[in-house]
Amino acid sequence: MITTEIQLPVMLQAGDPGYDEARTVWNAMIERRPAVIARCASTAEVAAAVRYGRSRSLEIGVRCGGHNIAGLAVPDGGLMIDLTPMGAVRVDPVRRLAWVQGGALLGELDRAAQEHGLATTAGNVSHTGVGGLTLGGGMGWLARRYGLACDNVVSYEVVTADGEVVRAAADENPELFWGLRGGGGNFGIVTSFEFRLHAVGTSTVVADFAFSADEGFAVLAGWRELSATAPREATFTAYVAGDVVRVGFVWVGDPVAGASLLPALRGLGSVVEEDVREMSYLTLQTRDDNVQGHRYRRYWKGHYFTSLPDEALRALLRNPGIGASLQSYGGAIADVPDADAAFGHRDTAFEFVTATRWEDPADDAERIATVRAYAAGLEPYASGAYVNTLNGEPVRRAFPAAKLARLRALKTVWDPANVFHLNQNISPS
Ligand SMILES: Cc1cc2nc3c(=O)[nH]c(=O)nc-3n(C[C@H](O)[C@H](O)[C@H](O)COP(=O)(O)OP(=O)(O)OC[C@H]3O[C@@H](n4cnc5c(N)ncnc54)[C@H](O)[C@@H]3O)c2cc1C
Repeated sequence: MITTEIQLPVMLQAGDPGYDEARTVWNAMIERRPAVIARCASTAEVAAAVRYGRSRSLEIGVRCGGHNIAGLAVPDGGLMIDLTPMGAVRVDPVRRLAWVQGGALLGELDRAAQEHGLATTAGNVSHTGVGGLTLGGGMGWLARRYGLACDNVVSYEVVTADGEVVRAAADENPELFWGLRGGGGNFGIVTSFEFRLHAVGTSTVVADFAFSADEGFAVLAGWRELSATAPREATFTAYVAGDVVRVGFVWVGDPVAGASLLPALRGLGSVVEEDVREMSYLTLQTRDDNVQGHRYRRYWKGHYFTSLPDEALRALLRNPGIGASLQSYGGAIADVPDADAAFGHRDTAFEFVTATRWEDPADDAERIATVRAYAAGLEPYASGAYVNTLNGEPVRRAFPAAKLARLRALKTVWDPANVFHLNQNISPS
């Protein structure tokens, strides 16, 4: 254990400059007021903030990118440990490693690594936090080649519930290392992630084909078959909204090789609209930043599927006019033995998310009900859900029973009082 000096961070309270900005998160439905916000700039300050909160029995929330759909980072009346001042990224291009502070956003990691033609698996909207995304697993366009974000973490620096600092890696606190790889923010506050980087270059291809509505089923069925044999450079994507059906893929690597997949997709039906673009990796990683911007009210539900039977495709096509997307898994995600990490569903073939955004609070009930009803229609075919898309469902959707039991035992060791419970909570056993 590394002991730290008492060094309190800047503390903000209601009325202080910056307080409202710091408590505002991605989903505009979240309106909570922490009693105090600790703006932490170092590991020692995080440790001091944990001790401060515990000594005053304050409920503790941990904020990185603020993208959790339910706003779990923001406690009402409690202490928000705000990691956003800790956004630094350092890259060693020779050893292909990156050290990323616990409050960094994905864009900071991508930009620093791409200066050297390197990258690691990260999500596809650059203002998402490295912290929450990686601790829950971390799906991105490189995952089928290199595994989830958590599969690329070599070590973590963690502030525990007792305010102590420990390191977790394969050879140091290995059970904690296991739990941090997909178990969410349950076991401590990660102040630094050490990531493995890969020489991916800077080129990508994004392909998107829209088909006429009456061909929707045949197109999706054909896309499903093509995705099963796709090279790992390709992540297959599909999008349904009302009677719009679009399928395609994102390819990270040599664009010429990526283009070889185009004829098969084109041949799935009568293409109404085609959009095939080469773009830089950094453009790919930021292209949805605006549409996924901060000022909207949001609601979503997600499922994992190990297969997509025809009935599931029909349920997908009974779409009430809200966006629903599918993204293929497999490849290197499934290569990792299931027992090696806490992440729950390595055998996932497709992730489904249906999401809506709106601005008028008067529409809340209707929007939420529509998403719930649509997602419920697909639930019979689902194997579970991604812990980072859970939105009110029990955590057992993200972890099979045996894994959940192991996670509970780990929680009992590292956080028996459940200090860190504003997350997809694994209660101590
Ligand atoms: C626009 C958008 C795009 C997304 N795209 C993807 C994607 O491509 N791939 C994917 O896998 N997921 C994606 N997600 C889901 C995302 O992984 C989750 O929303 C995740 O919770 C976001 O993490 P955050 O740090 O931004 O959120 P926050 O709300 O800041 O944190 C969420 C929770 O994570 C924990 N936490 C965060 N940082 C730390 C830390 N350093 N130490 C300990 N605990 C911590 C806390 O428990 C906190 O409550 C996306 C979400 C959004 C809103």
